[in-house]
Amino acid sequence: MSDFIAPAGRYAPSPSGDLHVGNLRTAMLAWLFARQSGRNFYMRVEDIDSERSSAESAARQLEDLAAIGLEWDEPVLYQHDRGHAYADALAQLDTYECYCTRRDIREAASAPHAQPGMYPGTCRDLTEEQRALRRSELHAEGRLPAIRLRAHAREWTVRDYYTGEYTGPVDDVILKRGGRVDQAQAGDWAYNLAVVVDDGYQGVDQVVRGDDLLFSAPAQAYLADRLGFTAPFYIHVPLVVGPEGRRLAKRDGAVTLREMMAHASAADVVEKIAESLGYVGISDAQTLLEKFDPERLPRDAWVFSG
Ligand code: GLU
Repeated sequence: MSDFIAPAGRYAPSPSGDLHVGNLRTAMLAWLFARQSGRNFYMRVEDIDSERSSAESAARQLEDLAAIGLEWDEPVLYQHDRGHAYADALAQLDTYECYCTRRDIREAASAPHAQPGMYPGTCRDLTEEQRALRRSELHAEGRLPAIRLRAHAREWTVRDYYTGEYTGPVDDVILKRGGRVDQAQAGDWAYNLAVVVDDGYQGVDQVVRGDDLLFSAPAQAYLADRLGFTAPFYIHVPLVVGPEGRRLAKRDGAVTLREMMAHASAADVVEKIAESLGYVGISDAQTLLEKFDPERLPRDAWVFSG
């Protein structure tokens, strides 16, 4: 049974470096949408990628989010604690082992009629004998198979605040990554499974995140359906771009809160974010929340020029 029963929004950063001003703006929007609609609001640390995540980075991110005036309901959920929940979910799903390397997938995907970016289905329909052979070949290379969803839908429709109804392909997404034999353990849980299981568990019915993830929403909503969860309402926020029109990145200069605070206060940063949302002269999150009207939000990418 879930302890989380009230409708909720969340912000779910991956702790692999400091958040930049675009991430902070998305977090601010997630908080505004949730609180303005009377929802709970959670922070979820998406640290399943064991190679890229660190506890130190997670702590810095939470500090920065608090510094711009966000507050959240406890507890903060750490995905590294949630393996049992992902294992339970996996057991409910129709899945298959996948023995492909990235290279196998690239090669198969370049064949005529392959759908770009979609898993070509190489391991989907293997016989038991073929599987035993592939498994032992892989084992000899020191690798363990990945686990994929056997999707029974080709596409799925989600609802998004900016886009309206959005229909996209449903892929046989990876649910668990391939592991290494020498570590005697399977690989990390995959983002698509973890995000769906945790949103379902936390009662998240409103997902605010960058619009670079819109394409993954149909597969996630399909997975939610398979697990008996109602898909959330999505709010995929246009990304922040740098002066050259490309997605904002570290190379664009002082973009993290700590970098910006060398010359400005947290209130100045909040003021900048508020301005990008169409509110001039507001430098604290609570006042912004009082004034916040989703209807007035600009629909274009915010060009950040320092
Ligand atoms: N952890 C993901 C990120 O930092 C966000 C995932 C999500 O919000 O669904 O990009």
